[in-house]
Amino acid sequence: MNESTFQSANEIIGKIEALGHEAYVVGGAVRDLFLQKEIHDVDITTSAPVNIIKSAFPKTIDVAIKHGTVIVQYKGESFEVTSYRGSSLLADLAMRDFTINAMALTKERVVIDPYLGQVDIKNGCLRAVDDPHNRFIEDPLRILRAIRFVSELSFTIEKQTLEAMHKHIDNINQVAVERVFSEFKKICLGNNVEKAFEIIIHLKIVDKVSYFQEVKHALKSVDTLKSMCACKNMTEVWILFLFVSRYHNYKNFLRSWKQPKKVIDEVETIMLRLPILLQNGFTEEDCYFLGIEKAQKAERVRAALLHKQPQINKINSLFHQLPIKERKQIKINGSEIIRLLEKDEPRERIGEIIFHVEKAILQKKIENKKETIINWLREEGYIGAK
Ligand code: ATP
Ligand code: MG
Repeated sequence: MNESTFQSANEIIGKIEALGHEAYVVGGAVRDLFLQKEIHDVDITTSAPVNIIKSAFPKTIDVAIKHGTVIVQYKGESFEVTSYRGSSLLADLAMRDFTINAMALTKERVVIDPYLGQVDIKNGCLRAVDDPHNRFIEDPLRILRAIRFVSELSFTIEKQTLEAMHKHIDNINQVAVERVFSEFKKICLGNNVEKAFEIIIHLKIVDKVSYFQEVKHALKSVDTLKSMCACKNMTEVWILFLFVSRYHNYKNFLRSWKQPKKVIDEVETIMLRLPILLQNGFTEEDCYFLGIEKAQKAERVRAALLHKQPQINKINSLFHQLPIKERKQIKINGSEIIRLLEKDEPRERIGEIIFHVEKAILQKKIENKKETIINWLREEGYIGAK
């Protein structure tokens, strides 16, 4: 995977060089290559202006033309190609955040590493490029990026870099929420989240950054932070924070973080059922009403809060045993029920009847067959006799 991606990147670089320009793989891909980690995106930096890149490749997407960035689609993969910020490769590298991210690679795999990023990689050290104060004043998001790399790589932040982070922490309030979220998500889901939160606590981020106010109780609880290791996605993380902080205005909070509707809906549905799940554990009916995806998420949060191992297999088998997995599988529908009702019966009765049928099927009182359902409805008096 890495090899073929690098091969494609090299072909792109070759093409740009043939036009008389410089081009290098840069940033995260070079770092991850040295860390022997899976590479998820390859960024290329070049002396060529965007219009040259756009005319050199048949498939490009404009993402941030103003910033000199264009996506080149090549052999089914996307490569972010950006014109040098500054007048040369060295000037471009000087504007990057950390030494481990300020390395470039030629297509012959020669490394350009003016800030000794390779040494820092060997030592597991995260160090700002040049003066850390200037770096964090220029872009306070870099403070969160530093913590993100702690969470993902378990690196230790170099002393002066950490001091500068401490000094400029308030400035995070000026960063757009989308950018904050993108790094915060990686902090929360990184393998070394506990180590990352030690820094968050040390820097008093929770008190100084308004984004976290509503859930600050959770973010200060060592117990909760331990539980976070079990979370696999942000729905689970948000539920954990909101539940521990006893903050009930979920919608407003998640909207302020510009979360997608799917996440907001998931959080609301699971939060509603969580107290009962914590008390009684899961039943088949819980699995049905949540659906498999939300049930698995709810189980991971439940287990995390109770400091237990999640029993995802149990959830899967409860779901598997269900006679129906969702309402639309019921073998009778609304219009068929209307036909069975007396003419003057109120329409609201339909929903009520379907609900009772659904419950009876789930509790295995009746089979999910049209004939059986109709007979049962007659026996129970929900509809008149024939
Ligand atoms: P990931 O593995 O998540 O993609 P990354 O380090 O590649 O991590 P990107 O956001 O893809 O992160 O950025 C690519 C490169 O751009 C970084 O490695 C770094 O050199 C530079 N960079 C990104 N964001 C900043 C920033 N806020 N300030 C300075 N340089 C940055
Ligand atoms: Mg990247």
